[in-house]
Amino acid sequence: MEKNVFEDFGMLIFDGEIMKSRLSKDTYIKYLECKKSATQLDKQSADEIASAMKTWAIEHGCTHYTHWFHPLTGLTAEKHEAFIDKDSKGNAIIKFNGKTLIKGEPDASSFPSGGLRSTFEARGYTYWDVTSPAFIRDNVLCIPSVFVSYYGESLDKKGPLLKSIAFVNEKCTKLLNMLGHEDVTEVKPNVGLEQEYFLIDRAQYKKRLDLMLTGRTLFGDSAPKGQEFEDHYFGSIPSRVHAFMHDVDKELWKLGIYAKTEHNEVAPRQFELAPLFAEANVAVDQNQVIMDVLKRMAYKNGFACLLHEKPFGGVNGSGKHNNYSLCANTGLNVFDPKTDVFPVFTACLIKAVDTYPELLRISASNPGNDFRLGCNEAPPAIISIFLGDAIENIIDEYAGISTKETGRVSKIEGFGYVGSDNTDRNRTSPVAFTGNKFEFRMLGSSASGAMPNVVLDTIIGDEVASVIAMLEKTAKEDYEKVLKAYVKDVMENHGRVVYGKNGYSQEWIEEAARRGLPNITSSIEAVAHFDSEKNVALLTKSGIYTEKEIEARKTVMAEQYISSIMLEAKTMLSLVDGYVVPNMVKEIENYSKAAAYSKYAKEKLEKVSSLLDELGTAFTKLKTEAFATKEYASELEKGLDIKARIVPLLASLREVVDSYEKIASDIDYPLPTYKEMLY
Ligand code: ADP
Ligand code: MG
Repeated sequence: MEKNVFEDFGMLIFDGEIMKSRLSKDTYIKYLECKKSATQLDKQSADEIASAMKTWAIEHGCTHYTHWFHPLTGLTAEKHEAFIDKDSKGNAIIKFNGKTLIKGEPDASSFPSGGLRSTFEARGYTYWDVTSPAFIRDNVLCIPSVFVSYYGESLDKKGPLLKSIAFVNEKCTKLLNMLGHEDVTEVKPNVGLEQEYFLIDRAQYKKRLDLMLTGRTLFGDSAPKGQEFEDHYFGSIPSRVHAFMHDVDKELWKLGIYAKTEHNEVAPRQFELAPLFAEANVAVDQNQVIMDVLKRMAYKNGFACLLHEKPFGGVNGSGKHNNYSLCANTGLNVFDPKTDVFPVFTACLIKAVDTYPELLRISASNPGNDFRLGCNEAPPAIISIFLGDAIENIIDEYAGISTKETGRVSKIEGFGYVGSDNTDRNRTSPVAFTGNKFEFRMLGSSASGAMPNVVLDTIIGDEVASVIAMLEKTAKEDYEKVLKAYVKDVMENHGRVVYGKNGYSQEWIEEAARRGLPNITSSIEAVAHFDSEKNVALLTKSGIYTEKEIEARKTVMAEQYISSIMLEAKTMLSLVDGYVVPNMVKEIENYSKAAAYSKYAKEKLEKVSSLLDELGTAFTKLKTEAFATKEYASELEKGLDIKARIVPLLASLREVVDSYEKIASDIDYPLPTYKEMLY
């Protein structure tokens, strides 16, 4: 009989019970305090924790440790150090103490810093993040860490997230206390990140340079449109996929991640993995681990896991849905419609989203996501909120606004019904209320979950602060009156961001424009808004980023956009030159031999020849533009220019290649086609 896999749950994280059993009571309590208040540990406790952690890790076969961090690339980074060292007499010893646990100095000077570090002051430091548990991967003890420059500027995604969590905690705790929830001492954002991905055969993946280098197919004729895929799809999930999912689950459970894998029927070969929610910082770390485990287990099982937002043109893309709620130490969830604070906190969220849509849009901006948002076949990138009639009615009723006729019970009793009833509709809304949480659905599948949460925490925290300021000027007996007026004001002046109909429709694009809602159609255009006056004021005032850190992030995002498009251009040119053109030439040779005998062969000859000429023109245009040298005042300007000049040329070249693929002979075509990869 197979061993009960759940017995190993959490065996690879240094957390909770394991820590408790291996530390003195004093030190364990100190650690918990430190975790709660995010303060420094004293040397003695740090040494004791380091020693226990090291012993535990070595027992599990670890030879190395690493400060595991999230540089601005959106990926994770690590530099492994062996536990082994030499003492003064030249003997081998095992060395790992409080100091090495808390602080690391990876050279790491090649990570993007957007100008925050020049090479002559390249020192960057990593500091242990006590709020996220250390874990073991292969033979390495991974210590979640923040990454800062010599001068203390944040160089990573985790640092600002920890700040925003503290910020929203402080504001929400205060407001709840004022509203009579005096036993609340802490409010934490809880986050559940659903991860979508594609799984394709590794042998085919390795034949596609575009997939390997850029994460997506740069061309590929969409197989006869969709439907028959779905039929095949359900009937034919190979047992290999099940074996893969089982491996993923087992590994994640060992790492203390509550994985609940389910396959997705939307696109062929596309799946989704949703772990149970956790505290935001931990959830974001876990999501990085999940992406890593998906890739490794795919490899082990002969697959490639594609995390790109749009690996296949004409086929559904992949996202990462960020489920968000704010929960107090008392168990109170401010987005639970059954609570007395629900209308006020939801009004804060509505106003925050309507005030800072650009920031939310930026937080879902990476080059791959452009194919999922705002462009031709993708839904628009307008930020709106879906509440559902019952929830709108709860809020309107609270504020004394006349409620809509829904034919349903508007109070809590009707809520369960609405929650499930509206799931279909809210799929089209980037911010959707789903039960007792809001789901931000814009994020791309490959992106780090950090920034959307930084933005949500900050914009909500800031709005909560303004409610606090309002109440501070109010006599306690008038609180209710003032709050009702506040909610009413929000619904009247910010209700434009609430939309309950089909968010993918042309009607909504026009309606949103009439309502004055921004529709930022590309990631590089979104980046341009990062340092607007409004955003800088908010982000600096709440202590999340300094102005320099904002500028740096803007530069890094633009750099990433440029590199991504340029890599696509070079890869495309190389594939066309190396595979597509030679194949066309070969076909032309064959058909020209047969043309003397067959009218059909002659027609094919003419078609392929004329496509080859078209291809030549598109190829030359792209090549000329891609290698043109130009001067730019900033990375942003360069990014915008590349979007205007290069992106359309990539699309036109693709169009020609795809037309050729449609008529190319299957026998000769050198690259795996959509039909082959997606079945
Ligand atoms: P759906 O299928 O409607 O998207 P699920 O219940 O499957 O909703 O939840 C999706 C994700 O949301 C999971 O990661 C889940 O743990 C998380 N989640 C559920 N409740 C909350 C909550 N209160 N706060 C944050 N995340 C939550
Ligand atoms: Mg969901």
